[in-house]
Amino acid sequence: SLVLVTGATGYIGQHIIDQLLERNFKVVGTARSQAKADALLANFSRIHDITNLALEIVPDIETAGAFNEVLKNHRFDYVIHTASPISFGAVADLYDFYVKPAVAGCENILQGVRDFAPSVKHVVVTSSFASVMRAEEFSNQAFIHTEETWNPMDWSDVKEEFEAYIYSKKAAELASRKFVEDNQSELKYKYTSVHPSYVFGPHLFASSLASASGSSELLNRILSYPPDKEGPFNDVASLACDVRDVALIHVEALFHPEELHNARLCTASGKFSSQSILDVLNSRFPEFKGKFPVGNPIEGKHYLETQTPAFDFSKTLELVGCSLRSLEETLYDAAKQYFDFEKAL
Ligand code: NDP
Repeated sequence: SLVLVTGATGYIGQHIIDQLLERNFKVVGTARSQAKADALLANFSRIHDITNLALEIVPDIETAGAFNEVLKNHRFDYVIHTASPISFGAVADLYDFYVKPAVAGCENILQGVRDFAPSVKHVVVTSSFASVMRAEEFSNQAFIHTEETWNPMDWSDVKEEFEAYIYSKKAAELASRKFVEDNQSELKYKYTSVHPSYVFGPHLFASSLASASGSSELLNRILSYPPDKEGPFNDVASLACDVRDVALIHVEALFHPEELHNARLCTASGKFSSQSILDVLNSRFPEFKGKFPVGNPIEGKHYLETQTPAFDFSKTLELVGCSLRSLEETLYDAAKQYFDFEKAL
């Protein structure tokens, strides 16, 4: 079988491709530039037989028909769409940077597959917990986020960059579901969305750590805290999951189009904060004793239990038939990769 993976250069996209190649699937990935495609192929050639991997260039997922040429050039069986803007920084126009490509990217892939790839059985799209989370219930432990929960926010609620990203994921999911519903009678494929919470865990290639964005950037930041930095370390606190599990859920889902049509698959293995990351660093890496702040682990645990979203995503695990790594293992493996990488420099 042949699988198209958009966002092949991404943190999650790379793990998805790795797992597909591991299972002997053929993969075509999309990258934004030839330079990025070449670098990625060189990396993959060190761990896989890359006769099963080809990369195609889609410079802008927002352009109408962006994926049509790629879809015409191959006979795909499955599609995983991960590409979406996620890097944070000096963005001139939040709507143009986040929302437009996120929404148009989903519409272009769903429409392109409808029109040019009738052999595709299933399209799995990477959405986010952002599209599930109800901000006003963030700390309400009596409100359980499940696969049925929807983020109620509108564009008018967006005040800063992170919220623009959150909104982009919700808008993209809404647009995707509308497309699937409006085209129900014509579509030959099934549609499923995957909603990871903060994704942590090792990069497939350690070299990516140098330019890591998103959740990996947060870990890198915490790793650089001076040991005398004062807490509390609850500035970033939410739900998290492992990149390898997120990739596995995309891949497992792919092969069950009928059972998972229109499903929302949500992943969280636990609650995290900067404090809980420090706890793992301090307890699991005794060789670095004194290198990181200790903060207040007890207060931090209480904060997580009372101030971050309650959730029950057991339906996803039942549907997909897999279990998740513990968050401690995820954070340990991520930090370990970072330390090994630093040592090798
Ligand atoms: P990365 O930034 O590593 O990957 C994002 C991918 O999307 C890259 O391949 C990137 O290409 C591509 N991309 C970004 N913006 C555009 C654009 N405007 N046009 C075309 N391609 C674009 O992040 P992740 O791997 O973590 O993200 C993958 C998906 O997972 C995204 O949909 C994200 O929203 C979702 N997600 C991520 C979470 C996390 O914590 N990391 C949590 C929940 C959901 P390039 O390499 O050229 O920049």
